[in-house]
Amino acid sequence: MKIHEYQAKELFRKYNVPVPEGNVAFSVNEAKEAALKLSGFPVVVKAQIHAGGRGKGGGVKLASSIEEVETIGSKILGMTLVTHQTGPKGRLVKKLLVEAGQNIKKELYLSLLVDRATASVVIMASMDGGMDIEEVAQKTPERIIKVYVDPLLGIQACHLRQVGFGLELPVAAMKPFSQLLSNLYKFFIANDCSLVEINPLILTSDDKVLALDAKVDFDSNALYRHKDLLELRDLDEEDLQEVEASEYNLNYINLDGNVGNIVNGAGLAMATMDIIKNAGATPANFMDVGGGASSEQVENAFRIILADPKVKAILINIFGGILRCDIFAKGVVDAARKTNINIPVVVRMEGTNVDEGKKILSDAGLNLISAVDLSDAARKIAEAVN
Ligand code: GDP
Ligand code: MN
Repeated sequence: MKIHEYQAKELFRKYNVPVPEGNVAFSVNEAKEAALKLSGFPVVVKAQIHAGGRGKGGGVKLASSIEEVETIGSKILGMTLVTHQTGPKGRLVKKLLVEAGQNIKKELYLSLLVDRATASVVIMASMDGGMDIEEVAQKTPERIIKVYVDPLLGIQACHLRQVGFGLELPVAAMKPFSQLLSNLYKFFIANDCSLVEINPLILTSDDKVLALDAKVDFDSNALYRHKDLLELRDLDEEDLQEVEASEYNLNYINLDGNVGNIVNGAGLAMATMDIIKNAGATPANFMDVGGGASSEQVENAFRIILADPKVKAILINIFGGILRCDIFAKGVVDAARKTNINIPVVVRMEGTNVDEGKKILSDAGLNLISAVDLSDAARKIAEAVN
């Protein structure tokens, strides 16, 4: 679960991770009030959306007077901010963070994340902060410092020194930086984070270190033990269909293509998306109804995909195991009765009770295209959309 920068910074404050003074605002008037509470100008007006790259997209601006807060605030609030992370549709900006402007001497990069390969928490840092870290990793990987922390032993002084020296910090900043990193690690562990990223972490002209940006992602599987964090969820920032699907325990991810697909099992769903691609079409979603789905869940899956206007055809690929083909077929028929299916639907079904399943589908008199195997299904779905 992602949260906004302003929320992440409020949490940072509680853990003594230094951040600039600032306040969130939901209107231009509130932005002006927030600016007046700070100690003078310039202030920074920042769009709050769950995506990075806001600076380049025009969502982060310096204001040197209250009038400028008004003009900049009214421009950013309500704008559809497009960044390399939002996709071409962009995101509507509904909140602003107004912060005290900082005198930046150096922009650094600092993040903590779970590294599955080594089963540890990895600290990543770089002197090339403020810019696209993926590009730094690709072009100059030697400029990224990686320090692995065993979660059972926790963070040690040697880790802190390794990162601090690696960043070539001035002596005066070494101790405050170590404290910041050690507190950030505490925050990461205590809240079951999967990612904490500060880009940039800045060194000010008086050698202070501050988190100028804050990106936090919590492990959703651990949220049950952090009820307080659940309040920070912002459904406005999430895909409506994905939120709905999660309410029915469906594993659904919205994608860009036009072939909707319904599959049981995540591995089969991945393979099905590959097959769709190979056949020259593109998947509109990932939808795993799960091994033990009920016909009601199948119906919900169908309805969610049919409601998506970009879907031009649907491929159903079911391997009947725990989810028997007859149960699945019943879900499809129920969904079809309640909705008006006006796009081609290709069905490939195999496994337990496949004959009963096929009979239910054919008796229902639905206009379905049946496929004998996966390659036949792929060919038929590509034909349907192209
Ligand atoms: P992002 O583009 O979404 O990652 O947003 P950031 O919070 O990282 O802000 C983008 C850039 O705005 C930073 O890299 C800084 O260069 C600049 N910026 C943000 N706050 C300040 C500030 O207080 N003073 C100055 N001079 N620049 C700032
Ligand atoms: Mn940033």
